[in-house]
Amino acid sequence: MNPVLIARDLTRHYRISRGLLRPAASVRALNGLSFELEAGETLAVVGESGCGKSTLARALTLVEEPTAGSLRIAGHDVAGTDHRLLRRDVQMVFQNPYASLNPRRRIGDQLAEPLAINTNLSGAERRARVLAMLDQVGLRAEHYARYPHMFSGGQRQRIAIARAMMLRPKVLVADEPTSALDVSVQAQVLNLFLELQRQFGTAYVFISHNLAVVRHVANRLLVMYLGRPMELGPAERIYRKPLHPYTQALLAATPTLHPEPDRQRVRLAGEPPDPLEPPSGCVFHPRCPYATERCRVEVPALREVDGREVACHYAERFV
Ligand code: SF4
Ligand code: MG
Repeated sequence: MNPVLIARDLTRHYRISRGLLRPAASVRALNGLSFELEAGETLAVVGESGCGKSTLARALTLVEEPTAGSLRIAGHDVAGTDHRLLRRDVQMVFQNPYASLNPRRRIGDQLAEPLAINTNLSGAERRARVLAMLDQVGLRAEHYARYPHMFSGGQRQRIAIARAMMLRPKVLVADEPTSALDVSVQAQVLNLFLELQRQFGTAYVFISHNLAVVRHVANRLLVMYLGRPMELGPAERIYRKPLHPYTQALLAATPTLHPEPDRQRVRLAGEPPDPLEPPSGCVFHPRCPYATERCRVEVPALREVDGREVACHYAERFV
């Protein structure tokens, strides 16, 4: 197969001024991330706030240049390609659908806009495509002439998804796309994502702080902490038996209908550390119940254990 998204050692550092008396510091918001994603697959990216998820989203949607590493989207190296061309291939859905909708324009016109900018379709053809897409996301033809405020939160997110899908992007990045919605609506919107993926073969990068939300949609899972990958691999394998203590802790903090009795119970105490002063060795060691002296000094390599990649010196212990 041909991956539509290939990230190699993707790195993004920020220089942060700390006032006159202290030297500027460098935050490693993204620190050497590598993964591949096939058409029709979903990679879920999970971690607490500050783990680098949003930085990754901005890099994938070309809002920010990586400091180092490379990114290939739909066969194009991002560094050497006109970003206007790539924007057709990568689209984004935000947590708050208002972020991508203009309150003063009819939603049909907003859905037609990407077609007007990027294609040679006639006005009638654009209208037909918009009506078909409205139908695909569970809205009706008479919604064409309505304004965003006339819809519920769930409907607005359907409109934002429709807008992102108008150009049939190869990759769709969704940053917490259901977390502003009522619980009763969340499942419907997740199912809509799945239906559109089956139809168009889009690859999704689904960003969330909540492992339970993405379980339903994820084929592959990436667990991040302080800008670093902790565990990466087939989602069901990791959900069934998480090997990294941080993944174990995130899962233990997630209420589920069917708790698995033999799962390691790791409690996640305290907050993530200050990214300006990341801990030595394994960055998770101050919060890890299994930390040893070795963990305080030696950075664990990301290596393959039991069919996934994991960055823990003692991952074998949990197999
Ligand atoms: Fe915990 Fe050590 Fe593994 Fe880090 S390397 S997750 S501190 S056991
Ligand atoms: Mg964020």
